[in-house]
Amino acid sequence: MFFIAFFGVQDKEKYIGTYNNIVCPSCEKLARYEIHKVYRYFHIFFIPIFRWNVRYVVKTSCCSCLYELDPFVGKEFEKNPATQIKKENLRRINNYSPFKHCLNCSADVPAEFSYCPYCGGKLQP
Ligand SMILES: [Zn+2]
Ligand SMILES: [Zn+2]
Repeated sequence: MFFIAFFGVQDKEKYIGTYNNIVCPSCEKLARYEIHKVYRYFHIFFIPIFRWNVRYVVKTSCCSCLYELDPFVGKEFEKNPATQIKKENLRRINNYSPFKHCLNCSADVPAEFSYCPYCGGKLQP
């Protein structure tokens, strides 16, 4: 099978703000959270068509641990930076790159794909 790569999926990351005076859940140092909004969009001929998978990712300033923030709290924080972020709103994640790497053609492909849309090769799970 062969596909022509006139469409694609891209991820965007936007810095929203910092949240000060927290005790890091990982290393227990006094630190701050850096909040990023991450979303994915689908484009055809590089024109963004739709956006989905909006997530809020929090990074600690001390040890760069990553957490996924409850999207409801993330949305609130975006509107009002005084919003409280509690430990219970965070979920530990290892990285927020939703991409797999195609060994065949070196393309970055969304993690939920089983086959590479560029070369049709099967992707490692
Ligand atoms: Zn830490
Ligand atoms: Zn490929």
